[in-house]
Amino acid sequence: MTGTTQDDYTDRYARRVRGMTTSEIRALFAVASRPEVVSLAGGSPYIAALPLDAVGEMLNKLGSEQGATSLQYGIGQGTIELREQICEVMSLSGITGASPDDVVVTVGGQQALDLLARLFLDPGDVVLAEGPTYVGALGVFQAAQAQVRHVAMDADGLIPAALEEAIAEGVASGRPAKFLYTIPTFQNPAGVTLSEARREEILDICERAGLLVIEDDPYGMLSFEGDAPRPLRARRREGVFYCSTFSKTFAPGLRVGWILAPHAVRDKLVMMSEANVLCPSAFAQGAVTQYLTTMPWREQIKVYREIYRERRDALLSALEDLMPAGTSWTRPTGGLFIWATLPDGLDSKAMVPRAIAARVAYVPGTGFYADGTGRNNMRLNYSFSTPERLREGVRRLSGVIEQELATRAVFGASATISSPRRRGPAAADTPGPDLA
Ligand code: PMP
Repeated sequence: MTGTTQDDYTDRYARRVRGMTTSEIRALFAVASRPEVVSLAGGSPYIAALPLDAVGEMLNKLGSEQGATSLQYGIGQGTIELREQICEVMSLSGITGASPDDVVVTVGGQQALDLLARLFLDPGDVVLAEGPTYVGALGVFQAAQAQVRHVAMDADGLIPAALEEAIAEGVASGRPAKFLYTIPTFQNPAGVTLSEARREEILDICERAGLLVIEDDPYGMLSFEGDAPRPLRARRREGVFYCSTFSKTFAPGLRVGWILAPHAVRDKLVMMSEANVLCPSAFAQGAVTQYLTTMPWREQIKVYREIYRERRDALLSALEDLMPAGTSWTRPTGGLFIWATLPDGLDSKAMVPRAIAARVAYVPGTGFYADGTGRNNMRLNYSFSTPERLREGVRRLSGVIEQELATRAVFGASATISSPRRRGPAAADTPGPDLA
């Protein structure tokens, strides 16, 4: 079979694969990783802030002194040492009294989402999710052949009335949603946080409707202004699946995350994970355990917070100083992302090649919606670039936007718009997508 192309396999693919398309944006991002391009596109933590020599030494010892276990298969649920430590980590966010028995260690937060999708979703099932939402969750739901119905947010996160409306719509159409997938704290991509007042309200609505909640919380510990509101799982033990990861508080390269599940479901999750990966990496789990045991991990989180706060401030003030009138953006109090809304009629996806030519990259808003919304939005990341680079990136970006506006003034608005803007939260309050 020489000279075959991917298309030769089209008729053989499983149905779940047929909706999967490669985005043209992907090709552009290969260019975006060139050093001359200021990338506001990724979602990478600033790993250079870790004490890499000490981490290297720790990993070396893990192989040489504990290789008999760290290089061996482990158990599907994850090591008991790590599950106990995860309970301690969660208690810092306000989830107290969790049992290590109800924790399932996963291959990053991403596998946590995949396992829950496999556990609950049949083809055609409906999932409720913030609009915009995490692009990797959209990929998981698409692979499960589920349909995502977005629920609007504003500056205080999910809008309770919009959630009630979405639930009622599902019931009325005979297809009630299976669960709500939510990132309540420092949302990716929107950068907004569900307010304290709304947390109870959202939980009450879900409880009344019998709707399960998947709470995805990779960023909760990266707060810039005091502690983040307590997670939803800290308020309800049943009906809430709490997912998190060491990717943002330690290192994503190790691929260690977890689910804290209601007790009844734990066994099924473990079986699902065994079918999927047999067991999470013993070496990666050992590395996290050693890191949490022997290194100042709480101080490291403070280091990350300080760096990201400085970079958020730099990006916000560059946007304030340089962006053309009519552009708005969210003001995150933690996490890694800002969601920007362009002047009406501009198309962030169509603009990508021009931005790359101007040596700046971002992720267009459409990637964060399952329904084509988000054309005049973009997600901007501030965790990876220095304050100076961020400012230079915004300078380049604002130049591209100004040029778009000038072109539009000459050729008319329809020159750059290919789909109407959908109804949604007010521009300044709206969140949007990411690659990580
Ligand atoms: N959930 C959200 C909201 C994320 O932003 C990410 C990573 N960007 C993940 C899950 C997956 O994280 P991990 O690297 O642990 O797989």
